[in-house]
Amino acid sequence: MRISSPMNAPVSLIDPALPRHDWALDEVTALFDLPFTALIFQAAVVHRHWFDPIQVQMSQLLSVKTGGCAENCGYCSQSAHFDTGLKASKLMKSEVVIEQAARAKAGGASRFCMGAAWRDLKDRDLPELARMIGGVKALGLETCATLGMLTADQAKQLKDAGLDYYNHNLDTGPEDYARVVTTRTYQDRLDTLSHVRDAGMSTCCGGIVGMGEQRLDRASLLHALATLPAHPDSLPVNGLVPVSGTPLGDQIKAEGQMDALEFVRTIAVARLVCPKAMVRLSAGRETMSRELQALCFLAGANSIFVGDTLLTTPNPERNTDAALFSDLGLVPMPVGAGPHAR
Ligand code: SF4
Repeated sequence: MRISSPMNAPVSLIDPALPRHDWALDEVTALFDLPFTALIFQAAVVHRHWFDPIQVQMSQLLSVKTGGCAENCGYCSQSAHFDTGLKASKLMKSEVVIEQAARAKAGGASRFCMGAAWRDLKDRDLPELARMIGGVKALGLETCATLGMLTADQAKQLKDAGLDYYNHNLDTGPEDYARVVTTRTYQDRLDTLSHVRDAGMSTCCGGIVGMGEQRLDRASLLHALATLPAHPDSLPVNGLVPVSGTPLGDQIKAEGQMDALEFVRTIAVARLVCPKAMVRLSAGRETMSRELQALCFLAGANSIFVGDTLLTTPNPERNTDAALFSDLGLVPMPVGAGPHAR
């Protein structure tokens, strides 16, 4: 399938049957620069090649340990470096988490994600986490966790406990990283992702857009994801939810938010460069119109977070999502479903 640049010169050959790992950065930027409708059309074709386009995977995220984090991610309400008024709490008991996971399943979620505001996982917390993960898995849900940096051995222990997915976002392009966080490096993130893959878990890895970055940074983020040894199985594209008291939240409140069509472009390019990933329309949906979300689904998004809270920020109510799905003819993806075998 030949696609054309605005100058009508061929910029790439996208064969939806052949996911690539050798993307050059200028190829990814050329995708961003395509005429909007050409880009969305190509992304929709690739989406349909790998997935049933009316199915949307539904994950629910619970903050199992909130606030007091030692990292200084400039967008995050949970960092101990910023005064956002958030009250820190300890790791929740596994029974409470499992009860909430059962409710999430009853509400239609197929994957349950447990998030802890930690710089890195401490071995002392592993037994409680193992009970938590095992209990959620026993409900018939896919399990996911985001617990900060892992060692190779910790990744193996989480896998043995029944963890299917590990979330560890790259946040932005490598060149932009130090503007967003300085308490860890890009390589730290890549190392943990490597441990997760080596342990045999699926990866959930994406980023955040609308943090004041440039288009080149968004292209660089997607280039970094598309050239990993294995594409992320889930690829969350988060729109920044600006939180007062965080450096990037305050900056965006003063400067104004990113153009919504640029967000859709990011979804579409994610679908093109990582065609078999569950591209998740993640944070930021609360303030998106129904029409914008519909455009994101057309551009290849096929996963959302459900539930009225995403860690510490608001998310659409379940009834609002149910009405949107009904009006768009979308249905929840069954547990365990993935890209078509080709
Ligand atoms: S994004 Fe995660 S690692 Fe960064 S400050 Fe927030 S909780 Fe900590």
